[in-house]
This record gives sequence, C-alpha cells and structure tokens, in this order.
Amino acid sequence: MIRKTRLFTPGPTPLLPAAQFAMAAADMHHRTPEFRALYQKVLAQLRVFVGTGSDVLLLSSSGTGAMEAAVSNLTSPGERVLVLTAGKFGERWVALAKAFGCEVDLVEAPYGETFDLAAVRKALKPEHRAIFVQATETSTAVRHDVEALAKLRNEVAPGTLLVVDGITGLGTTHFDVDGWGIDILIGGSQKAVMIPPGLAYLSVSDKAWVAMEKSKNPRYYFDLRKERKNAVKGESAYTPAVALIAALGAALDYIAGQAGGDLEKGRIALVDNAQVNAAATRAGLVALGFTLFAPTAPAAAATAVAVPEGMDSSEVVKALKTRFASVIANGQGEMKGKIFRVAHLGFFDFLDTIALLGAMEHIAKDTLKLPVKYGQAVAAAQQVYSDAVKS
Ligand SMILES: *Cc1c(COP(=O)(O)O)cnc(C)c1O
Repeated sequence: MIRKTRLFTPGPTPLLPAAQFAMAAADMHHRTPEFRALYQKVLAQLRVFVGTGSDVLLLSSSGTGAMEAAVSNLTSPGERVLVLTAGKFGERWVALAKAFGCEVDLVEAPYGETFDLAAVRKALKPEHRAIFVQATETSTAVRHDVEALAKLRNEVAPGTLLVVDGITGLGTTHFDVDGWGIDILIGGSQKAVMIPPGLAYLSVSDKAWVAMEKSKNPRYYFDLRKERKNAVKGESAYTPAVALIAALGAALDYIAGQAGGDLEKGRIALVDNAQVNAAATRAGLVALGFTLFAPTAPAAAATAVAVPEGMDSSEVVKALKTRFASVIANGQGEMKGKIFRVAHLGFFDFLDTIALLGAMEHIAKDTLKLPVKYGQAVAAAQQVYSDAVKS
C-alpha cells in the first residue's frame, strides 16, 4: 500500500497549501512598496489574530527569539522575576532569565500538572519585574489558566509585567489580551498559523513599552523599540523572512475565509476546532487503554498520553512512522519513552483525527498487544464530535 506523509507534531505542523504557493511566489525586495503593503497587511491581521489593540511585532527567528526579546527588553541584571514552570518550555524561561542576570524565583508544578494558584499567590511579590509563563506547556500538553494568573497579578502585584509564551496557546486557547492585561504574548510560525518555522510574533502592551525604557539588559537584533519604529513605516529593522511573511498573510486569509472573511471569527473557529479535536483524541486514546498524561488541565494544542506500564512510547512513534508515514512526538527529556504527543493546532480537521485514531487502533493492537476492537477509538471520537456540533 502507498503511504501519505502526515505531521501530527506540535510544531512544525502541517503546511497550508495556499501558504506554500504564496511562499514560492514571494520574489520581492524588502525595501519596496510591494513589501511594505504586504508587511502592513500582515501586521494588521496579526493584531486581530492575537486579539489586541496594542502593537504586534514580527521577528525573523524561531519562537525562542521572541522569548529572549521579552527577557532582554523588559529586565535588568539583578532584578527579581517570577517564573512559573511545569515542563521543558517553562525551564527555558528559567534559563533565559538567568542568562540575562535576573534573580529567578520559581513556582513549579510536576510534569503533567498545572500550578496551584495559592502557591503562585504566595510567591508573587510586587518587586517582581515580570512573571514568565506558558499558556500551554507543549512538553506535557498541559494548559495553564492565564486568565486566573492575570487576575492574581492585577490583584497582588499590578506593577509586575505578565509575559506569556503562547507559542502553542495562540490558535488553541481563547485570550482577552487587553482585558486581562497580558503585557507580552508570543506566537511562532510553525504552530497554529500553518507555515514553516522561522517567524515569531508578539503583542506588546503600553505598560511594557514604558518598562522597556528603563531596562538595562543588552539587546541588538531583538531590540523591540527599533522593530516598532520600523514597523510604523511598513518595514522591519533587518532583512526579514520575506517568503514566510507572504505565507503568513495567506494563512491568515485562509483562517478568515473559514468564517466568511472575518478573521476574528475565524480565529475563534480555529480555537474551537483544536478544542474539539483534542477532546475527540483524548476520548479515542483513553478508549484504547492509554492514560492521559495531563488529565486535570489538558491543552487543546496537543494531547499527551502515557503508554501502559512496561511499554515504550518510542515503539508507538516508530510504528506510526513505519506503517503510516505519520509523525507524532515522543516525550521530551526524561519523558521520552513514557509518553507520546499528538498535535491539534493549526491545519488539522476532524478527518485527520479520525485517521490518526484509526491508525492508532492498529498500533495499539499489533505493537503494544492491547486488546483492541476495531472502531473502539473512532467510535469514542465520533461521539465527542457529534456532541460538539450539536451544542
Ligand atoms: C515550540 C515552542 C517553543 C519554541 O519555539 P522554537 O520555535 O523552537 O524556538 C516555545 N514554547 C512553546 C510552548 C513551544 O511549544
């Protein structure tokens, strides 16, 4: 039988064909009226996609570049910051903050769990320059309650900046950026916006712009003030990833097109889509005998499941690739071999979910020797879908 390559990984995610065509056709110099028109259009679309009235900036880097920009632009050496960490990407905030000389206080949650809000309340002090957190911790597929964290910040330490890594949160979670007071919200191109790696984008609040003026950490390529000055003119500070920006424009057009041309409604549909596919996947995999790795706070960006005791999740990853040319993610770091992760963010629809669950029935039966009845996972997912479209 022939096999079709499919990505079910939480970044990079499957590419939107229209975005690939736009990319291939983007033969353009970046200091021309054509590019300025494209750049201004994409920045305006990004404001709607992120859902903010503030500036949204684009950087030619992977998502971590924008994380570094948030740290270097907002902090000074010796300043205290609070990092909330529950996985590999939370640990990246810790490493970044330390690299820029911050004194890091921590609230940790075990892998597979989210934070105890009472612990955050106890740890958070008005002298913290910023809180750094993920909206969804992709390494464990846990969702953190950004709204509750923002409320807590507003109550306990209103002067503290709230910086959210929404790299897999955007497009899978509903945010009220300005209403909650998120100061920086970061996204990445290879996640929900259906294009290849290479771009990061971030919203920046007025409060963050003011704070930036006092920050003493060094910054050059990621100097957000310089990026903002250039963006006003429809340009980026340095040579941007022109082809990816063209692709991003096409992807945001597609998302708008899913809701009759209304990008805000399209964004909501994209988030709801991820949520339904995540719920269907959870139901299907549990029906096959897997255990959810993050049962109390599952993300819609991805689903992490533990394989039964004594089994190796690498076998599932390998079998899916060999038999169906489909790629899912193993656990990261010490979670490797214990869990696997399936993505729902971006260009995935319900048919993709059904296909994956159908393949997983074979893998569970043949590779893991679980007692599978064909249709078991698919039936559970069908029920979730049916309930979701009725309501
Ligand atoms: C993918 C991801 C990143 C890192 O992005 P890069 O593009 O690899 O730099 C950061 N945070 C989260 C939550 C992610 O999922």
